[in-house]
Amino acid sequence: MKIIKAEARNIHFISRMVRDSEGHSHPGAPHDAQLPIFTITCDDGTVGYAIGGRMDVPVLNSVVAPALIGEDPFMRERIWQRMRTWQRLHPTFNDRTLNAMDLALWDICGKASGLPVYKMLGGYRDKVSAYGSIMVGDTIEGGLNTPRAYADFALKLVERGYKAIKLHTWMPPLIPEPSVKLDIEACHLVREAVGPDIGLILDPYHDYSRQEAYYLAKELEKLDFLWLEEPMDENSMLSYQWLQAKTSLAICGPETAGGKAQNRAAWIVNNAADLGRAGTETMGGITAVMKIAHLYESFGMSVELHGGIIGNLHVLGAISNTKYYERGMLHPLIDYETPQPWFNSIYDPMDEHGMVTIPQSPGIGWDLNMEYIQANLL
Ligand code: MG
Repeated sequence: MKIIKAEARNIHFISRMVRDSEGHSHPGAPHDAQLPIFTITCDDGTVGYAIGGRMDVPVLNSVVAPALIGEDPFMRERIWQRMRTWQRLHPTFNDRTLNAMDLALWDICGKASGLPVYKMLGGYRDKVSAYGSIMVGDTIEGGLNTPRAYADFALKLVERGYKAIKLHTWMPPLIPEPSVKLDIEACHLVREAVGPDIGLILDPYHDYSRQEAYYLAKELEKLDFLWLEEPMDENSMLSYQWLQAKTSLAICGPETAGGKAQNRAAWIVNNAADLGRAGTETMGGITAVMKIAHLYESFGMSVELHGGIIGNLHVLGAISNTKYYERGMLHPLIDYETPQPWFNSIYDPMDEHGMVTIPQSPGIGWDLNMEYIQANLL
């Protein structure tokens, strides 16, 4: 089996989400937008896809695609290792782009083998418990504009079936000054609304000082939160070491810090966090995150996966040392259950007990609406 073609394109669609200057998404007025899709075709007609995930289309076409031609897609580790080394001096070949290549290759191998990817990795479970991941706070009427709005929405999520909830609280540019007091007020009201049995997580502003992060940790201890995530700049592992030593609350990370498994190894041996963090989209794909998950397993640590993305679902289906799927982002004004126009169905359907089924069809298991995609290719 050989790869004969690889190509990245954009699809036009109407988006109802806007990204603020810090990179966080919020509901907004409908506008023209583009979604990238990467396609790899093999000589036997098997086609693998990666869609979305802010991959770099020019890098895929100019660097990755030519390197894939003639390769056997089942030699994925060799291809991935080669591309990883090419990232070093390339100005824009990031881990999101490496992820697109990795997902499309896994998709091909699964389809050619007649297996969902998580079973190719070595299946551990076919359902996983989800937490509802609430979007970053905003100033929208009927949205997430007050601590009370979080509590009301959290209650709705519990009624939907979620057994755990994550709050992303207010950050610039929508508010000029982040506030730990406001964060804790929201956490208080949410705990009061959902009761003691729902797992709660806080992912606040990511640039608090040590003292501010310490205040959050001490308050969340009292509210029996599951963990605190990325309250400080992750470039300072020493700050996390400092915080972790001072609180009984679990600290989770690193999430956005680069360095794949190697950097996480440093955080583990320096006791900088209690729970690991990794995600296929931002860390180089399923291939990268499986290495990270096994690294944490060998230290007796769990790893919580970043983002409601399909690659994470397959990893969750193949590892034992993790607890939740991050489902979302969720917002009172956004309908999460209806598929985007490029999908026929959502890939993370959740039952009334808060359990999400790992995709079961061969490959990655996207249910693509090819008619829509073809009609909207740019
Ligand atoms: Mg996070």
